[in-house]
Amino acid sequence: MMTSQANRAYEIADTYRNKGVPVVLGGVHVSLMPEEASSHADAIVIGEAENSWPELIRGFRNGALKRTYSCSKPAEKIPFPRWSIFDRSVYLPMNSLQISRGCPVNCEMCSVPQTYGTEFRMADTAKILEDIGKLDDYLFVINDNLHLAKRRVRRFLEGLAATGKQWVGLAPLSIADDTAYLDRLKRTNCWAMYIDLSPWISAGLNERIGPAQIEKAAMLLDRIRERGIKVIASFVFGFDHDQKDVFDRTVGFARANGIEEAEFHILTPYPRSRLYERLEAEDRLETRDFSKYATSSVVYRPAKMSARELYDGYIHAWKEFYPKETHEETAKGLVIKTFACFPLGKADLVNVPDGGWGDAVRKKKAEVSA
Ligand code: SF4
Repeated sequence: MMTSQANRAYEIADTYRNKGVPVVLGGVHVSLMPEEASSHADAIVIGEAENSWPELIRGFRNGALKRTYSCSKPAEKIPFPRWSIFDRSVYLPMNSLQISRGCPVNCEMCSVPQTYGTEFRMADTAKILEDIGKLDDYLFVINDNLHLAKRRVRRFLEGLAATGKQWVGLAPLSIADDTAYLDRLKRTNCWAMYIDLSPWISAGLNERIGPAQIEKAAMLLDRIRERGIKVIASFVFGFDHDQKDVFDRTVGFARANGIEEAEFHILTPYPRSRLYERLEAEDRLETRDFSKYATSSVVYRPAKMSARELYDGYIHAWKEFYPKETHEETAKGLVIKTFACFPLGKADLVNVPDGGWGDAVRKKKAEVSA
């Protein structure tokens, strides 16, 4: 389970345990909060499961299930998903791939280092390329930090280019400092990069950093798009340096720079991240109801605005950025229909072949424009 799913997962786990069905819990949240999870399960798996899962199954079969399975050393082999057992019709129809784990950077708001460790580890390149060859087009490489190890991913990118498959990935904007690397990405049929622009934009609104940083961000975005790679922008609100003007100025930046798809989030202190620990030490955490830890609720006291102002500003940004006809007020809150079209803009659809996810996205686009 992930953090925002924890309450619901515990409900389901308790229901089954009450019926006498053994329950095993694992995943990111369990690895970060093992004691909490343990009270809802017969066994928990902490950390990466590839090493401990076979032992758990043996123990279960022999009637000797242990309370905790913990992976002391990270899995050496990152296995390839068995896509054949997956009902593709009910999920975003893309092949999402995780080809590395671990990150040495340790950003304050992130829990990847606490979950996967601080060493960058890559899957076996030859094996992953062989497996990718068996998949349909359109890959989503979900690694947070692949581009931190450019030299090590070079062979992977060259192999990916040879497959001819189109893919979307995640990257920091700083990849555009290296034009040779951008050229390499272009040769791989990378058609979109999902980029968190907050470190550049909201921090750039801070007087200390000034407009030079905003200008540089605009220049780097152009470099990426000049190579035919679309930018899907992500913005986070609620940093301690954010003031009330951050919402309009962020949307203004996105518009002025021709961003077609954007996501807006509220800063969320995931358990055991450095941010969580700092806010806890400053007595600024307002709730530990983890169902609210989903980047759409304010769970702490912001520094330079009220929680209400942060929430309203976040909704305002979504509404300002996307046209009115895409907004739908539901009992659960605002839904922006264009988001369902992630990650394609209209121009991209021209090149998407019939069938599969292209049809699903076209249908959604048609609904939105109708
Ligand atoms: S945000 Fe990205 S770069 Fe920072 S610690 Fe997390 S994975 Fe690493």
